[in-house]
Amino acid sequence: NPVLSQLGVEMSRLSGVRAIMKDIIETLRSGGDRAFINLSAGNPVVLPEVEQLWRDCTADLLASPDYGDVVGRYGASQGYQPLIDAIVEDFNQRYGLNLTDRNVLITPGSQSLYFYAANAFGGYTATGALRQIVLPLSPDYTGYGGVALTPEALIAYKPELEIDRAAHRFKYRPDFSQLQITETTGCVIFSRPCNPTGNVLNDDEVSKIVTLAAAHDVPVLIDSAYAPPFPALNFTEMTPKFGGNVLHCMSLSKAGLPGERIGIAIGDESLVHVLECFQTNLCIHSSRYGQAIAARAIRSGRLAEISETVIRPFYQQKIAIVEATLDREMPPDLPWFLHRGEGAIFAWLWLQDLPITDSEFYQKLKDVDVIVVPGSTFFPGLREDWSHKQQCLRISLTGSDRDLETAMQRLAQVAKAVYRA
Ligand code: PLP
Repeated sequence: NPVLSQLGVEMSRLSGVRAIMKDIIETLRSGGDRAFINLSAGNPVVLPEVEQLWRDCTADLLASPDYGDVVGRYGASQGYQPLIDAIVEDFNQRYGLNLTDRNVLITPGSQSLYFYAANAFGGYTATGALRQIVLPLSPDYTGYGGVALTPEALIAYKPELEIDRAAHRFKYRPDFSQLQITETTGCVIFSRPCNPTGNVLNDDEVSKIVTLAAAHDVPVLIDSAYAPPFPALNFTEMTPKFGGNVLHCMSLSKAGLPGERIGIAIGDESLVHVLECFQTNLCIHSSRYGQAIAARAIRSGRLAEISETVIRPFYQQKIAIVEATLDREMPPDLPWFLHRGEGAIFAWLWLQDLPITDSEFYQKLKDVDVIVVPGSTFFPGLREDWSHKQQCLRISLTGSDRDLETAMQRLAQVAKAVYRA
């Protein structure tokens, strides 16, 4: 085995969700002919209309005189100009902005964007002061757990819980009495809509966070991987926020293009420039083939349209099935609470006072051929002990209608047995 640097060791750790994914792959492999219902996936479903859009854009690219230039040449680190232009035009028109091409950066997927930002804005300064990467509401995207080269810089805050006991629903809200965004904060990151909970911070909550951060010139990365205009996986009204210290970060992964790795950041030129330099050193630029088909899908308006007419209704129907099945099958006297399904492609279930841990519950679900993800992997940066961390499950909405219904029925049986043991 090679001798690794501290950083090498840090980056080689099998962090939370990767360990679970490894276990799931091994379970599926060793399962023989057992018919597992796998509701662990973060991969979006390949929807025929969406696939057709990407096929059409590809055909158009292949037939165009640009093709040789697109795949046969290096380009600018900031991104492929026709894609940047398409985004500037679309967003200026859609949201009444005054973006120029200096306000946009294209990255190989949005994960890389968080990696650049976490390490350009967070970590130790030249004078040795630690600047934190603040996650204002935990739980949040597990991928933030691996982005800091200085892991001690990552800090997350416990939320407030708004509980509707009669309806068996709940919702996380940022706890502004605890949240610290100060002169030692390097940047703030949160997902909206949220993976894993389906939460959508409301416009006021977002403004409050942005204002707190603006007081110290701290950039706020709003991870809009599920937000409008594409993939538009919001089931509740929300207004995307732009300007000032906000970096509006998008991804085409949930709009049918996870394999091509396209992330997009929109923000102040000075912030975009810092991230662009980081990218030049790391990988030069994102795939130009992916960028060229993305430019076509955005310029034609089809990506935004399909997001609203196909992608959003597809997952909205799935969350409705999960809600209806749990409402029917879960005993009303058990303290189970489903997070309000406001967006994204997951349901998030909280089993209050669960007599076993989330990982043990996950194992019991595997025994009845249902696979979900234990919730404790979705609290990166939250150091305090909190029993709630071991009481949640993430259920992917990528299953078929029937599988979702069957899986929720089995989950209700397991919950009954566990609480009443
Ligand atoms: N942010 C959130 C909230 C996500 O759910 C994901 C992927 O699942 C990502 C970022 C990373 O996506 P990508 O790097 O494919 O853009």
